[in-house]
Amino acid sequence: MIHKILSVGPLQCNCSIIGDESTHEAMVIDPGDDIEDVLAIIRQYNLQVKQIVITHAHIDHVGGAMKLRAATGAPILLNQNDYALLKMLDVQASWIGVAPPGDVAIEASIGDGESLETGSLKANVMHTPGHTEGSVCLYFPAEKLLIAGDTLFARSIGRTDLPGGSFEKIMRSLRDRVMTLPDNTVVIPGHGPRTTIGEEREENPFLVSSSENVFPMGEPRRACLERNRRVE
Ligand SMILES: [Zn+2]
Repeated sequence: MIHKILSVGPLQCNCSIIGDESTHEAMVIDPGDDIEDVLAIIRQYNLQVKQIVITHAHIDHVGGAMKLRAATGAPILLNQNDYALLKMLDVQASWIGVAPPGDVAIEASIGDGESLETGSLKANVMHTPGHTEGSVCLYFPAEKLLIAGDTLFARSIGRTDLPGGSFEKIMRSLRDRVMTLPDNTVVIPGHGPRTTIGEEREENPFLVSSSENVFPMGEPRRACLERNRRVE
């Protein structure tokens, strides 16, 4: 597997470029910005982009999707529960002080349990609402790799105070879906450093105290929320 991760845009969204080494077919996940840099990687590895996958409709993850589509012809995929949020990109642009990217044309919704195939690579779509209603994670079982969007970060979780966010839902998504993956799964969050499911099970203050209490309300959560006041 070819896997290149670029930090794109002012909020440093992790954009993944994932390709099959033999067929050179590829998918790009969360091309939020800096599409020239994404295209440079695509040319460097001689990749043919088959799919543009958006983990959720926040501008820092989807802002460059139409430019990438224009350059590659690849369809853009997003869970339908985020279509309403996608219509608010101009509002989102004003939140972070960037130019609105214009309308984004979605080819199809990606739903829970579907699989996305690119060459010999296969990713399972997990619908993980909470950060937004239509947030998804992509799990590559053969590689034990999770592209987590803004659902799970190293030692933190996605904020839930923006429109469509729900703390109860993100905790349920984490408990029932994400944290059921094997401990040695490598996690690429939507921002910041990579981690593993096992490390987060041990160290993430949102998750360590949740074995008995599903919605921990103690100090670790409050401290963590204070540290994460940014649009992600
Ligand atoms: Zn986000």
